[in-house]
Amino acid sequence: MKVFVIDIAKCNGCYGCQLACKDEHVNNDWMPYAKPQPDTGHFWMKLNEKTHGQVPKVKLEYTPYTCMHCADPACVKKSDAFYKREDGLVILDPLKAEGKKELVDACPYGVIYWNESLNIAQKCTGCAHLVDEGQLPHCVDFCATGALRFGEAEEFAAEIAQAEVMLPEQGTRPNVYYLNLPKLFIGGEVWDPIADDIVEGAKVTLTGPNGFTAETLSDDFGDFWFRQLNAGTYTLKIEAPGFQPVVKEAIALTDSLNIGDIPLNK
Ligand code: SF4
Ligand code: SF4
Repeated sequence: MKVFVIDIAKCNGCYGCQLACKDEHVNNDWMPYAKPQPDTGHFWMKLNEKTHGQVPKVKLEYTPYTCMHCADPACVKKSDAFYKREDGLVILDPLKAEGKKELVDACPYGVIYWNESLNIAQKCTGCAHLVDEGQLPHCVDFCATGALRFGEAEEFAAEIAQAEVMLPEQGTRPNVYYLNLPKLFIGGEVWDPIADDIVEGAKVTLTGPNGFTAETLSDDFGDFWFRQLNAGTYTLKIEAPGFQPVVKEAIALTDSLNIGDIPLNK
């Protein structure tokens, strides 16, 4: 079974994979798997971009997103225009997709596009035409950082054991596995209002849901960060020699948060 493994920590947001998909499919006919992709409006491989936090503590995170080539695909259950190959790639038959605009709604992941000029629904084929020749999907081949990988599930058993999939609640059992999917962060800065200076080396402790505890020190800018957090309610405690401790309770984390400048009083 072929799988994609996508390591978000290695993605630098170069958009190469998105462009590689266009390079491979726009104006190219790869029947029986795909007719040409239009040059605008389709993203069979899409780089999703999300901004986390608030200025000045902002992080931009990128998530490559494509057909999940599911083991139990919802699309195949909805229409015989879709089929699953023996190697696991899910194909939308261009001939059977003709005139069927409703196929765009056959996927809970929103990865099916309508091609107005050809009057067909289309999606990622996993570059089945290249895979048939023992090559990699073009997006994977193009990715210079190793963020995108493709191969047999057995080769990636260790990564798959730690990976997450998109929308697991849909029950489609995706074959696109994500490592280091972006989670939330809390960042802030501690400072001494009397000295009008930052406080370096303050001990910052974060406690949260399900017994979560983490500890860090403010750096030489007075900054502290807690990354890869789940949504939930947290308590932050700041302690530094010579200063009164500060406690911030009931921090409701639903999106990444810059908690701002925290003054420490003597
Ligand atoms: Fe990220 Fe690789 Fe795509 Fe560039 S080509 S955006 S590094 S996944
Ligand atoms: Fe089908 Fe959607 Fe799964 Fe792709 S992501 S195999 S189109 S259900």
